Amino acid sequence: YPKSRITSLPFILFFFGVMLVTLRRFATAYRGSAKGTAHKKRAGTLLLGHIVTYLASLDYIASFGIPWYPIGYILIFAFIGISVHSIRRYRFMAITPAFAARQIIDTMNDALIVFDPDGVIRLVNQATCNLFGYHEKEIVNKRPAGGMVNSIVFAEQLESIVRGETVRNQELFYHTRENALQALSLSTSTMLNPAGEPLATVCVVSDITDRKRVEQEREQLITQLQEANRKLQAVDKMKSDFVSIVSHELRSPLTTIKSFIELILMKPNMPEEKRTKFMNTVNTETDRLRRLVNDILDLARIEAGSMKWKMEEVSVEEVIRDAVASMGPLFENKGLHMTTSFDAPLSALTGDRDRLVQVVINLLSNAAKFTPRGGAVHVAVRQERTPDGQIVVAISDTGIGIPKESLELIFEKFQRSGDPSAGAIEGTGLGLAIARQIVEYHGGRIWAESELGKGSTFTFTLPSAGHGAPAQHEL
Ligand code: ADP
Repeated sequence: YPKSRITSLPFILFFFGVMLVTLRRFATAYRGSAKGTAHKKRAGTLLLGHIVTYLASLDYIASFGIPWYPIGYILIFAFIGISVHSIRRYRFMAITPAFAARQIIDTMNDALIVFDPDGVIRLVNQATCNLFGYHEKEIVNKRPAGGMVNSIVFAEQLESIVRGETVRNQELFYHTRENALQALSLSTSTMLNPAGEPLATVCVVSDITDRKRVEQEREQLITQLQEANRKLQAVDKMKSDFVSIVSHELRSPLTTIKSFIELILMKPNMPEEKRTKFMNTVNTETDRLRRLVNDILDLARIEAGSMKWKMEEVSVEEVIRDAVASMGPLFENKGLHMTTSFDAPLSALTGDRDRLVQVVINLLSNAAKFTPRGGAVHVAVRQERTPDGQIVVAISDTGIGIPKESLELIFEKFQRSGDPSAGAIEGTGLGLAIARQIVEYHGGRIWAESELGKGSTFTFTLPSAGHGAPAQHEL
């Protein structure tokens, strides 16, 4: 100020020097930045603000008697207003490495947990809180087992991983607070201080639940496809086997019939006795052919789902009695002793009466076929004392028996036991396949137990009425 005379000069020179340099730098920044950018706008408002405040500093001219007051104050307020506006609008924020690192950590998709050498959690990011369902202050400055109380098994696994060697993509399971199971993949790395000592363990956890589910679904699909493919191949093979077996089985009785009839036709003077013998053979072969065609048709119908089932209330005693009555003469002829036993009382069941009789007849005729003269056959019917009260029918004989390895196979079409003594006995290998289809259609099960040379027992179960509807036939 003039009243300070010469001593005010250095101050005035310094002040205006700083003022000029500052204005110059803002003006350079303003001119040097691209049009429309925040940087240009920021430099522009700051340049304006400083011009205004330097004008305010001209208040010393009041000491020369020029009325300046209160213009200086107004200008200072204008400077404050412009600066506040500039700061609020353009946010002067220094992008430091620490600031950038924090931003990166918080915008990461994966959970990041930093442990100190004592295994205490020192830093977590937002993704950690989202993934584990804890607030930052619930887990920071604690060991995992102290904070993640909800999934203690996971917390203990995490502690032991952090204590051990570094891991890459280790899979762990975590129970959320809602008790959902999450699959996590975990990788760790150790940070060392300049002296080479461990400073912290950084653990990155990613949620791989969705990926795992997709992988599992894909694997299941592949297994299902492989299984379907295997079944298709088996069906294809069965079909070609079936055609070749059926054509062979049909052709052989037909050939016999034809050759015997040709013989009879060729030799009209054949002795009566011989002719009758030939006619009997033709008759037996015709019966065999009829049975075979019936069996093949039955099986084909059941398998194709076109069998007409007459489901009604059936008494199992009547089924057994009918079958036993129709097989009686055969048993008598062969000198076989047949007995039956019924567990009383037996509930009724829902089923196709004629088909169930067919099952029992098939089993009885097998028992008669494979039991030598003088043997015994017993039919036992009982009802299980369980809540579903299944009916169990067991047909035992004292026949030739079945080798263990054939016990399941004989229920397949055209499969006969490998026992040579059975091979000599007439049969096609369709009876048990039909019996199994019928029993399974009714929701039951059929199986065989046997001891070679001692006898066999064929057992089947049927659900009693009101317990388990008949199984739907599958193609
Ligand atoms: P088939 O009797 O016409 O050969 P099945 O399907 O009824 O056809 O029987 C298949 C095979 O199971 C028979 O060939 C026989 O080897 C064996 N098998 C069935 N029942 C008995 C039985 N009670 N004792 C011994 N073997 C039997």
